Amino acid sequence: MTDHRIAAPLLPGATIGMVGGGQLGRMFALEARRMGYRLIVLDPGTDTPAAQFCDHHIRAPFEDLDACLELARRSDVVTLEWENADVATLRSMGEHVTIHPSPDVLEVAQHRVREKDAARRLGILTAEYRAVRTRAELHEALREIGTPAILKTARMGYDGKGQATIRDAAEADAAWEALSAGADDFILEARVPFRMEVSVVCARSASGEMATFPVAENEHRGGILHLSVVPARVDAAVAAEAERVARTLAEGLGVVGLLAVEMFVDAENRILVNEIAPRPHNSGHYTWEACPVSQFEQQLRAVCGLPLGDAGLLRPAAMVNLMGEDAGTGLGVPGAADALAVPGTALHLYGKAQARPGRKMGHLTALGDSADQAAERALTAWGRMTGTE
Ligand code: AMP
Repeated sequence: MTDHRIAAPLLPGATIGMVGGGQLGRMFALEARRMGYRLIVLDPGTDTPAAQFCDHHIRAPFEDLDACLELARRSDVVTLEWENADVATLRSMGEHVTIHPSPDVLEVAQHRVREKDAARRLGILTAEYRAVRTRAELHEALREIGTPAILKTARMGYDGKGQATIRDAAEADAAWEALSAGADDFILEARVPFRMEVSVVCARSASGEMATFPVAENEHRGGILHLSVVPARVDAAVAAEAERVARTLAEGLGVVGLLAVEMFVDAENRILVNEIAPRPHNSGHYTWEACPVSQFEQQLRAVCGLPLGDAGLLRPAAMVNLMGEDAGTGLGVPGAADALAVPGTALHLYGKAQARPGRKMGHLTALGDSADQAAERALTAWGRMTGTE
């Protein structure tokens, strides 16, 4: 196989291929274009958020090998905003172009059991878990782990989809019926009585240089991120440990690009890894306003072999998601003007034509003098935008 490793940095003017054309790709595209790069997006959608800002859109399903190979041939490096592309296809692409993060990293990140196995191998704590493939294995795993527990599909789960809570053993069969129709590979996890959810986005370049963005404190609603507050309101030692865990995973997995790590903080202030994503993350959107480089610029720097940027926090920040049920597409919303009257507030809309409940349509970020003030501002702006204030 030809060696496509990037020896010299890919400079402005180079073409970056992006697998996936959602809002993460859109914000990457904005940064890439600002810095003089060209961008080709592969996505099956007609009017995807990233396609509105890229140089070329290959409109094809991720399973379309010819389309994937076209992306590979036309790009100087390929990165992604969606980690569930077929690994065999990515490996074929890898014969023509460097893919960051590598298919090996994606193979781990696509599967909840492999993810947790990898964390444990690196000495990182997780919830107790068992791999489950049959109803009998579910009952066996429940006997070992106890309740409450959560049954999750091992693949393609995001935003709390493909999950069922089992409060006592009598609920096991119902959970199995609910999930087994659509999948055949599961994980059973003990439900962690966490006191806080946090996340860290870590960047790593091929040279091994790393930069870690500050720890975000996350509040979810129905399994979907609602609010991120930065810096997380935890002791310095807890924040340092969360950053160490993220760096250990990024290094241990050999990530080139970004690794987002979602973690629980338990009552004893221990950090347990829940999930990893080898791409920009919703809980890192605050970096756009609050850090010298955004997570998207950092992804670009990492995959192009440029020096990483300063990932420090300029000001405390909070980010709140705008869902389809909150403010539709976000367009023509009367409350938008009132929301932007809140000091330090910025609005991002993703250019999605159709609003649906549970669909991320945009977000608001507020800066403040403290994490508390930023959170209050973001929630006030959100209340005005959604008419719930
Ligand atoms: P996930 O799709 O795994 O990120 O799960 C979505 C959300 O469900 C998490 O952010 C948590 O709020 C909750 N959750 C998932 N797994 C667990 C667990 N093992 N213990 C407690 N809460 C969980």
